[in-house]
Amino acid sequence: MRSALVCLAALAGCAAPGGRHVAVESDLPAPAIRQVVAVLEEAVTAYRELYAGVWDLSAEAPVVKVRLIGNPEEFKRIVTEAQGAESGPGTQGRYLHKSRTLYINAGRGDALTPAALSTAVHEFSHALDHLWAGQERPQGCPFWSFEGRSDYLGYSVLKGRLVPGAAAFSRDTPEVLEKTLAYPLTLKELVDMKGKAFYDPKHVNSHYVLSWAFVHFLFHGDGGIHAEGFRKYLKGFPDGFQRVRLEAAVGNLDNLDAPFRAYLRDTLMPAVREAASP
Ligand SMILES: [Zn+2]
Repeated sequence: MRSALVCLAALAGCAAPGGRHVAVESDLPAPAIRQVVAVLEEAVTAYRELYAGVWDLSAEAPVVKVRLIGNPEEFKRIVTEAQGAESGPGTQGRYLHKSRTLYINAGRGDALTPAALSTAVHEFSHALDHLWAGQERPQGCPFWSFEGRSDYLGYSVLKGRLVPGAAAFSRDTPEVLEKTLAYPLTLKELVDMKGKAFYDPKHVNSHYVLSWAFVHFLFHGDGGIHAEGFRKYLKGFPDGFQRVRLEAAVGNLDNLDAPFRAYLRDTLMPAVREAASP
């Protein structure tokens, strides 16, 4: 699941309601469909760029079916029926691997909101994980990595290629981030967290933000010194996602708490505030 981004992919010149990697099913206006196709095709390029050398991306990804649903009630009904259970409140998108279908609460206009586009990319990142990395949540994958990497892609600005670290957010993101700064969860606790605790409605937003921020930190923090270790850790995918493997690759997490919090406060927070301001 998840939320916000501004996607500035070139939207003109895409005529078909589908692309190489996506097939859209929707009664939304054609411009909205073209917009989503362009954004998701960009996301494939960005994903390939991000995980090149980590996983074998040589196989062509199969086409993912994308259902853009313009009515929130209808979105909820369709997703509940498809997955056989209700999603949490606030769920704006869902990817179901069995039917290889991505569902997006898309709104009714000619263009999707930044938040809806970000959700689409977030869910699509889950789809690409399934297709290329063989990931099946919850087996073999910790939740911080599963959601954090998807938010990393969903929050990134795509301008022909992924601009790492650049981000655009919904207006409530600074507030969530502010709350997260005061939330005393250690990295060890985050990394060890199982699904029930991770998706606890009381703290789920902070868990998403911390996961996104930790992925961001591992790719870019401390001048990028953790990136190689993080990528090495991801190579072991999908087996052995215990904390001990992560620590073997990036060091004892107790030692990263302070620099991570500093990165969150001094680098990410100002960037998010700026990106979210009108
Ligand atoms: Zn998700």
